[in-house]
Amino acid sequence: MIISGKDLAAEIKRDIAADVVKYKEQYGREPHLVVILVGENPASVSYVTGKAKDSEEVGFKNTTICRPETVSEQEVLDLIAELNEDKAVDGILVQLPLPKHISEDKVIAAISKEKDVDGFHPLNVAALWQKQKCILPCTPKGVIKLLDKAGVEIEGKKAVVLGRSNIVGLPVSKLLLDRNATVTMCHSRTKNLAEVTREADILVVAIGRPKFVTADMVGEGAAVIDVGVNRDPETGKLCGDVDFAACADKASVITPVPGGCGPMTRACLLENTIECYLNQVAK
Ligand code: NAP
Repeated sequence: MIISGKDLAAEIKRDIAADVVKYKEQYGREPHLVVILVGENPASVSYVTGKAKDSEEVGFKNTTICRPETVSEQEVLDLIAELNEDKAVDGILVQLPLPKHISEDKVIAAISKEKDVDGFHPLNVAALWQKQKCILPCTPKGVIKLLDKAGVEIEGKKAVVLGRSNIVGLPVSKLLLDRNATVTMCHSRTKNLAEVTREADILVVAIGRPKFVTADMVGEGAAVIDVGVNRDPETGKLCGDVDFAACADKASVITPVPGGCGPMTRACLLENTIECYLNQVAK
């Protein structure tokens, strides 16, 4: 069974759009997401354009603020401080990566925790690890929603997460742990990787290596979630970290790339913006 992130994201967006109509009547304004784009990196421009399109589709107000590659760190921090104070702004997202002269850590920490729609702020991260209320990071949240949608039981299952980055691998592992899976985290120094991944009931892969996971690494009947987004070196087309064609027959459920985790990340960003908006209008 192929789990379509595209279809699930479309469902979520439909629900959000209906809610926004109601919220607008109730609170007198729509949710407002501000995206800051520094420079003209084509991938970043494309992501920001996608976020603006999604926001408009569900009836949010979207503002994209563009700054040149040469903008100083202080100017970006001042802009964030201004947006933090603006009661008509619910969510602030700074598109990463930033130019080398700007500290991503400083910029992320400067965004108000209450407007941190990406869930990257250190206080949000700490709250996640301490099981406190927090804004969940979008991609990990999307991974769990995909498993739930496919009816995959998480509790008591063996989950293996391949990759331990701050934005995907680590938080995915934590969310699976919170759902009472027994979680094994793997990385570039893991020995006998295939032996570990083959044991997984749930295998989440986020390493950024095209078609790295081959059929011999997947156990019969495993649920496979492929977070990777790469270019296939042979065809130049988008592909995941999992060799989909080789692994699909062994998996009970599997996500495609494109059309799996990518659209879910974007849908979860919209959900997080609603969460921030509701907090803001309740003040
Ligand atoms: P990252 O920060 O580069 O981290 C990669 C992780 O993979 C590291 O933990 C690394 O191990 C591990 N790794 C690398 N090569 C490995 C190998 N040969 N065997 C085992 N582990 C290996 O990457 P990321 O930001 O998490 O992104 C991972 C992928 O997800 C990328 O393709 C990215 O484009 C994609 N992504 C997609 C979305 C989405 O919305 N769909 C969102 C975010 C990221 P070490 O820690 O030992 O170095």
